[in-house]
Amino acid sequence: MAVTTEPFAKTDEQKAITEMVRQFVDEQILPNAEHYDHEDEFPEPIVEQMKELGLFGVTIPEEYGGMGLDLSTYAMIVEELSRGWISISGIVNTHFIGSYLLMKFGTDEQRDRYLPRMATGELRAAFSLSEPEAGSDVQAIKTSARKVDGAYEINGTKMWVTNGLLAGVVFVLAKTDPKADPPYKGMTCFIAEKEPGVSENTGDYEGFDVPPKIKKLGYKGVESTELVFDGYRCPAENVLGGEEAGVGQGFIQMMDALEVGRVNVAARGVGIAQRALELALRYSQERKTFGKPIAQHQAIEFKLADMATQVEAARLMTMRAARLKDAGERSDLEAGMAKLFASETGRFCVEQSFRIHGGYGYSKEYEIERLYRDAPLLLIGEGTSEIQRMVIGRKLLQRHKI
Ligand SMILES: Cc1cc2nc3c(=O)[nH]c(=O)nc-3n(C[C@H](O)[C@H](O)[C@H](O)COP(=O)(O)OP(=O)(O)OC[C@H]3O[C@@H](n4cnc5c(N)ncnc54)[C@H](O)[C@@H]3O)c2cc1C
Repeated sequence: MAVTTEPFAKTDEQKAITEMVRQFVDEQILPNAEHYDHEDEFPEPIVEQMKELGLFGVTIPEEYGGMGLDLSTYAMIVEELSRGWISISGIVNTHFIGSYLLMKFGTDEQRDRYLPRMATGELRAAFSLSEPEAGSDVQAIKTSARKVDGAYEINGTKMWVTNGLLAGVVFVLAKTDPKADPPYKGMTCFIAEKEPGVSENTGDYEGFDVPPKIKKLGYKGVESTELVFDGYRCPAENVLGGEEAGVGQGFIQMMDALEVGRVNVAARGVGIAQRALELALRYSQERKTFGKPIAQHQAIEFKLADMATQVEAARLMTMRAARLKDAGERSDLEAGMAKLFASETGRFCVEQSFRIHGGYGYSKEYEIERLYRDAPLLLIGEGTSEIQRMVIGRKLLQRHKI
């Protein structure tokens, strides 16, 4: 009987693709991330190469021009990209959620219209739930969509939309029935098209504006924006899943997508933690105090040990959640646990590595300084750690009801 020491051994295809992405990260992302981060500039040349490598179509079926790979393989790729720079995985992440929504809930016409251009990265996607006054409490959103002459008129302001300016299509959650009780039953997801890179849209996209990007602590390069809808008319055929089947289904559709999104954020946590560990391993063997490399002081060695142990555990949890989803089994609990543990692992490892770097960790000359600003995002995006604990607790009680 063949025995493997790896519970989640990679297939030959997974090995080939992750090695290819790792090489791309080492050669193109790591040497350039500092520049784009410091300038807060969109990494256009890197994104162009990602298009050539097919990285925008990893999970999109081959019939639409994508690679048709599973969530596990996607998570491996995201870990590698995030090891380079989490802003790069952020550019892919919202696109992945948009393509998931189309693949799972879209009509044939919607898939035919968007997926081929999304597979190449020619058209990039964003998704938008959050608002200035509602993040965790999604049912409290105020953006409304009212049927007027065969179209839905959308009004309201969205907040924190990753890729909000450069995306050409945004999956927007709005209330079609503000009186629905419970509120989630009155929510609908719209496929809102606009001109990529344009702040004030005109013509067919009139009423869809993108204010200047929000200035952030980290996660630079990729823009986070508000979206202002003021009488924007979204054709009825752009209700996700079609008007008949899709109206009132938006909340359920978005929550489903966020479940796979959690595996994706977990993979980002593993990637940033892995990089922090690599930097700590190198620096601690170079830097000497009291006559020997700091790695030989037990206090530092223990930090390295704790980091490596957590990275390993986070990776295994992420892979388990992804594999369960790929096997068509329930993974809501596992995805929540993986997201919680891996994002906290990202923060933990980055802080340990920062401490190991001493004063130099505080200098912009050292990569760990960027990681220190980037890691906290993962504690918030796609459900804060507090919300993950609520999800985990609720699912646990559902599964173990007495
Ligand atoms: C850089 C960045 C990019 C983002 N990208 C996107 C995007 O592309 N699309 C999108 O839709 N959103 C996006 N978001 C928004 C993100 O999903 C929200 O910020 C997040 O869900 C938290 O919502 P909030 O900021 O409104 O915090 P709040 O919901 O106001 O929470 C504030 C605090 O209260 C805690 N809290 C809330 N409710 C409870 C409770 N019931 N019990 C215990 N504690 C609770 C939270 O955990 C948090 O600590 C992004 C955010 C950031 C920072």
